Amino acid sequence: MTSKTFTGGCHCGLVRFECTTDLAMVTACNCSICTKKGLHFAFLAPKDFQLRAGEDNLREYLFNKHAIRHQSCIDCGVEVFARGSKPDGTEVVALNVSCIDGIELAKLAMTAIDGRNR
Ligand SMILES: [Zn+2]
Repeated sequence: MTSKTFTGGCHCGLVRFECTTDLAMVTACNCSICTKKGLHFAFLAPKDFQLRAGEDNLREYLFNKHAIRHQSCIDCGVEVFARGSKPDGTEVVALNVSCIDGIELAKLAMTAIDGRNR
């Protein structure tokens, strides 16, 4: 797959982003937060993700080891992305692919992740 540039945002539109990804790996994870929020993440290098609007409209949510910093719109509550780091310390952005404009989840190849047992 080749990388494409996508735009997207939260439901109310206050938080907007632009990103470049090939969507080759989209998670279908069984951990508590992905299950309850219906999250499907694609992992991007920070340089491939630009917040275009709504920086001040984000609320951060932390749990467990606080390793992943979940970012949700204060107004509509939609989680747009999360920030974290790989085991080697490399910063990574986990994008909620459901926030990409016009995305059709059923057309994406999902990769099962056993987050519940990690
Ligand atoms: Zn919103």
